Amino acid sequence: MDCIFCKIIDGSIPSKKVYEDEAVYAFHDINPLAPVHVLVIPKMHIDSMDKVSADNAEYVKKVFLAIPKIAEELGLKNGYRLISNCGEDGCQSVKHLHFHILGGKKLEEKLVSRFGLKCFVPFHQD
Ligand code: AMP
Repeated sequence: MDCIFCKIIDGSIPSKKVYEDEAVYAFHDINPLAPVHVLVIPKMHIDSMDKVSADNAEYVKKVFLAIPKIAEELGLKNGYRLISNCGEDGCQSVKHLHFHILGGKKLEEKLVSRFGLKCFVPFHQD
């Protein structure tokens, strides 16, 4: 399967790993939108949140169990935001289920404005 995140898991595409166990892989986003921007993915390929089912929920559970450990390792003591974009309207660009952990600063309060979804704007350190 031609999936960039499957290639990151198998090492054929390099990544800056922050966490790995038998079911979960986490790495720094190549285009960070916050001081900390990490992607957490199941090693099993699942296209998106829409494809989560009783058959693969065990892998998603393992992702969710890993997220607090990863956040702690990243030093996100004061909180963080977790996002999973899904499908066309959700602006999902990589079709392998992933969760963005964003933090390291006080984030904007609103993710969605009255005028629609706010575009992700690349983060620049002040
Ligand atoms: P989404 O738009 O929710 O599908 O998020 C996909 C994310 O993957 C984006 O934030 C990209 O910056 C990130 N991304 C794409 N390719 C890579 C890569 N090779 N290494 C790390 N992050 C990547």
